[in-house]
Amino acid sequence: VIIFAKLCLDNVEIEVVRKKVKHLYLSVRPPAGEVRMTVPPSLDRETIISFARAKLAWIKKQQAKILARPFPLAPDYVDGEIHCFFGRPYVLQVLATTGRPRVEVNTGASLLLLFVRPRSTKEERQKLLDAWYRRQLKAVIPGYLEKWQKVTGVAVDEWGVRKMKTKWGSCNIRARRMWLNLELAKKSPRCLEYVILHELVHLLERNHNHRFYTFLDQYLPDWRGRKAELDSLV
Ligand SMILES: [Zn+2]
Repeated sequence: VIIFAKLCLDNVEIEVVRKKVKHLYLSVRPPAGEVRMTVPPSLDRETIISFARAKLAWIKKQQAKILARPFPLAPDYVDGEIHCFFGRPYVLQVLATTGRPRVEVNTGASLLLLFVRPRSTKEERQKLLDAWYRRQLKAVIPGYLEKWQKVTGVAVDEWGVRKMKTKWGSCNIRARRMWLNLELAKKSPRCLEYVILHELVHLLERNHNHRFYTFLDQYLPDWRGRKAELDSLV
């Protein structure tokens, strides 16, 4: 059984997970520098807090390192680069065309074909691919929203896709507006589905507290695996 608790020390949020472990473990994870402490089941609150306090400088240093890293690693949009689409890697192939610039997927050959004007710039190729990613995401989001709005009984009034540096998604509770990170087009749809549900659950519970995670456990029992997949760098 995993029991979650949340500590907040000096503006640093620390998720505390009780597990059958002998020692305390501390991790700071990408993309947003989330801090998690794994502690033995019976360890008292004072010890946990004093340990976290002693490690605070180290935590902040790790977070700074993670946030300083470009997100994502900047590609050049040239032949042979690997670009992911819905969790699968594709080899980019840049082809010159005098026709309409466009993107095509060759699933069998795992190719992402970028048809661009001759002598296109890196920025033009990036813009074309981003616009395509955005359309692919926008095509599948409504289905997941409909499914999970029915299950949770809450709904957003508005949603959109945009580039975000440190978050996979966000939900403005008052405006009932959800933003999803454009980068989700590169991750598997399982991850996208988790983010959509996560943000919807914020309409039921604002904070990442026990109640919040109880909702997640209830609606999507395998959400931790999906989150781990999302946080992994590949
Ligand atoms: Zn959240």
